[in-house]
Amino acid sequence: GFCRENCIFYSLHPPLLLPSPCIPLDITSYSFSLYPPSDSPAIIDASNGARISHRELRSLVLSLSSSLQHTLDIRKGDAVLILSSPSIYVPALYLAILSLGAIVTTSNPLSTESELEHQIGISKPVLTFTHFSLSHKTSTFRHRVIAIDSPEFRELAVPSKPVRREAEIHQNDPATILYSSGTTGRVKGVLLSHLNYIAVVAGYKAEAEDRAAPPIALMTVPLFHIFGFFMVLKTVALGETMVLMPKFEFSVLLRAVEKYRVTYMPVAPPLVVALAKADEVLKYDLSSLETIGSGGAPLGKGVIEKFAKRFPKVEVKQGYGLTESTGTATRTTRLENKKHGSAGKLSANIEARIVDPETNKPLAPGMRGELWLRSPTNMKGYVGNAEATAATLDHEGWLKTGDLCYIDDEGYLFVVDRLKELIKYKAYQVPPAELEHLLLSHPEIADAAVIPYPDEEAGQIPMAFVVRRPGSSLSEKQVMEFIAKQVAPYKKIRKLSFVGSIPKSPAGKILRKDLVAQARSPASKL
Ligand code: AMP
Repeated sequence: GFCRENCIFYSLHPPLLLPSPCIPLDITSYSFSLYPPSDSPAIIDASNGARISHRELRSLVLSLSSSLQHTLDIRKGDAVLILSSPSIYVPALYLAILSLGAIVTTSNPLSTESELEHQIGISKPVLTFTHFSLSHKTSTFRHRVIAIDSPEFRELAVPSKPVRREAEIHQNDPATILYSSGTTGRVKGVLLSHLNYIAVVAGYKAEAEDRAAPPIALMTVPLFHIFGFFMVLKTVALGETMVLMPKFEFSVLLRAVEKYRVTYMPVAPPLVVALAKADEVLKYDLSSLETIGSGGAPLGKGVIEKFAKRFPKVEVKQGYGLTESTGTATRTTRLENKKHGSAGKLSANIEARIVDPETNKPLAPGMRGELWLRSPTNMKGYVGNAEATAATLDHEGWLKTGDLCYIDDEGYLFVVDRLKELIKYKAYQVPPAELEHLLLSHPEIADAAVIPYPDEEAGQIPMAFVVRRPGSSLSEKQVMEFIAKQVAPYKKIRKLSFVGSIPKSPAGKILRKDLVAQARSPASKL
């Protein structure tokens, strides 16, 4: 049974034994990989067909970690920012930085200068790797910036003297700082440890033992996001192949599936919609595709059915997780039956609770409440933000997800809605607090609130309610442009309504539920 005392739901998978705590995530020393490094491709760059084998990747990681240590003086605990589109060097840098006990931090290449400034204020990197084409965004950084496409970087990739083992690295040491707004407020730095990732990869290792052949995976999800990040580690650990697209284009993706005989794709839901609907898809031979794994946002039952009509042999699996749980909580494994609309069952070593959001009482199977998780994949906390950490991780180790869910009596998780403020536009995080902050900085805006508005293609779009100052004739277009200038494109306000006031609680909290209801009600003139 999975719901025993105190209504805790347990994973139906046997518990996984994790390696001794003194063994960190380091492909250069410990048996992180299931197999010895082989000549099969680890990474293929879909833009030019360049490939690198598992053996070559390991050598490249060794060269980079040596240069990071000897040439660039990177030490244990230093944060290094990777601001880059996908390339062979991105996974290699991730692995090299981790092998030194230094911390990887990432950012979306679409981030604006002020968004980057906020993030580096949290993670305080001592070094950034980027591309020439993005160097205008890093021109104000006060630490060293190296372009991956520069001669200087090429020097770093040349084999040199071995790495000096200095400070010991433990599994409890930080591995990455990725960003999430969590349940409320602005972007925060999610601190994940070596153990967090080892626990995720262990689940995949256990499942891979009796498989036929390692998958060829097309990485349609960004490598800077937790989903892409752990997929990189999984690929290396399981001797798989990842196909990368430096620039995302639908036709490039379809051609890559055909050309490289891709068998597996981790995706965000909008891509499933496109695959199910676009006529272009029919021009390609996608017969190699066996499985797609969707995560990052809800995947509707209707979309799965449409997709299944077009691709009857392709299995659609859903997974659920958040950056704060190392992208992991539930998924559908190879041996499980899937239920359409479910996000799968709890992964190994994970406990869950469904809690009444008002009373904090644990609830029984089938009842809806906030999902709490307890797992070796739970984050260490938010960097430099004890208050937000305490509000999210309780003293018993439960992580409050901010998602409204239920678990049925067979153990399948269904995500019903989001209790937290977060908006997800095409699975990208849009924190309303950030847009509200920018709106309030406009001299003609007296008050503002931002909520999610349902959208078939994007899942959700950010919608703003704006109160103009008396006498202002500010237009919808002017407000949208004012925001668009300051944020990454996926955060743009795409719907707007001028109102007389913003509904608030006596304590001054925006009553977002009222605004959501107002926006959806057919009687409203929106
Ligand atoms: P992120 O930290 O960017 O991965 O965002 C995590 C959030 O994405 C979760 O808390 C959910 O709100 C949402 N999410 C992720 N996977 C799913 C899924 N399979 N179904 C519904 N929502 C999801």
